[in-house]
Amino acid sequence: MPTPRLEVSHIVKEFGGRRVVDDVSLLVMPGQVTCLLGPSGCGKSTTLRMIAGVESLDRGAIVVDGELVCDGRQQLPPEERNIGLMFQDFALFPHLTVAQNVAFGLKGRKVTDRVHDLLAKVGMTAHTNDYPHQLSGGEQQRVALARALAPKPRIMLMDEPFSGLDDRLRDDIRDETLAVLKDEGTAVLLVTHEPAEAMRMADEIALMRDGKIVQRGAPYNIYNAPVDIDAAAFFSDIN
Ligand code: ADP
Ligand code: MG
Repeated sequence: MPTPRLEVSHIVKEFGGRRVVDDVSLLVMPGQVTCLLGPSGCGKSTTLRMIAGVESLDRGAIVVDGELVCDGRQQLPPEERNIGLMFQDFALFPHLTVAQNVAFGLKGRKVTDRVHDLLAKVGMTAHTNDYPHQLSGGEQQRVALARALAPKPRIMLMDEPFSGLDDRLRDDIRDETLAVLKDEGTAVLLVTHEPAEAMRMADEIALMRDGKIVQRGAPYNIYNAPVDIDAAAFFSDIN
């Protein structure tokens, strides 16, 4: 079996005595998109924040590409984890061009090649020297994707990344994003509260409720055989 890109084992987080993440385990294999799907408030973002390293764990362990990054006792700082992040309110730097945004934080002689390659992949070559305010929401999203991919992250964490987009655009951007992620071979843990998004993008879904994973499997297996009446109801308003 290849080394998983991300292995989360039995993580726990409490706030003020309330357990908001309760014994969560997750696996993301190379090149795969795993979706953490569940209603608002069930603990998805807290889980992602622990993996990113911006929130501590009460219990459990997180291993990225075979490297233990956190087990409660020791903690690798977020900037040393080589984890890509895309959050819903993740803005581009307004004072930098598209190319400068993508190149931000990269080092070495190959930066220009990498930036051009990524801008071609996301279809933004014509906007290389534009500033963010000159772009539409969908175009900004594409640049944000290129920027997150630029350092070749070991795993990409995405927290409701499409929720700020118009309904009209969202499906197209989801499909484009998935194509770019697959082309780059990037493993992804995608958080969403929308079953339709998980069905569209996931290789594997982990269904979360009240801090716990209640079901996991391939999208159509979960859709066709929800674990209980609440899971069935959750999927029933899919569009
Ligand atoms: P989701 O992303 O699934 O909507 P969150 O992980 O953001 O859920 O939140 C899960 C629960 O934990 C919520 O009830 C939220 O209010 C609570 N919570 C999140 N962060 C904190 C915090 N820093 N302090 C106290 N409670 C928090
Ligand atoms: Mg959230």
